[in-house]
Amino acid sequence: MEKQTIQPFLSVANYHLIEQQLNKILNAYSTTKDKNVILAVKGLVDTELTENLSLDSTQLNLIEDLYHITDYSQGELFLETLKQYVIPFRKVTLSNLKSIFKKQKKLKLPKLESIDFQHICYLTWDDVSTHQKYVIFEQQGKLKGVKGNKDTKVVKGICAICNHHSDVSLFTTTVKGPVVDTFKKHSNYICTDGESCNKNIADLERVTNFFERITR
Ligand SMILES: [Zn+2]
Repeated sequence: MEKQTIQPFLSVANYHLIEQQLNKILNAYSTTKDKNVILAVKGLVDTELTENLSLDSTQLNLIEDLYHITDYSQGELFLETLKQYVIPFRKVTLSNLKSIFKKQKKLKLPKLESIDFQHICYLTWDDVSTHQKYVIFEQQGKLKGVKGNKDTKVVKGICAICNHHSDVSLFTTTVKGPVVDTFKKHSNYICTDGESCNKNIADLERVTNFFERITR
């Protein structure tokens, strides 16, 4: 029988969710020998994954390998295999970015070649000289962009995008208000480091809602 090719079926956030759940299992193995504790952790992981992923039986089979993993090297191998099923962030070119921020004079552009699109749910880069942070995200199937001021002060807090406790900075965006010449400001604490923020994201809906909220 011909081997069935499985198309990518995991969002970047799904992949991170699985990675985080796998780490819970590995943590259990490294801290206890009690089989019941490990079983309980696996049960919690199973609930978390079933609640958040909707998979068919073939896809489910691939994920279920997770429950046989007992050490970090097996874990790495599993994640490496899983990576081929990840739907990366939309392809972005420098000309896309220039057209999204066409009103911006002296636009600083990111080094796209150094970005792993299989690990990001949104694209972001900083212009350190002007304290501006640029963000590209998907909204209703389209690439959208927003820029804002990123405060230089770094504090500990919960990030409004990934919901993790980390080093955060105040990010302030300004959008046009409903009345001509009025503006609305949105200030949110988000991870200072966009790369680690992306790695934390296990819920894409939260990300979509965040950008929906700050661009309205
Ligand atoms: Zn974050």
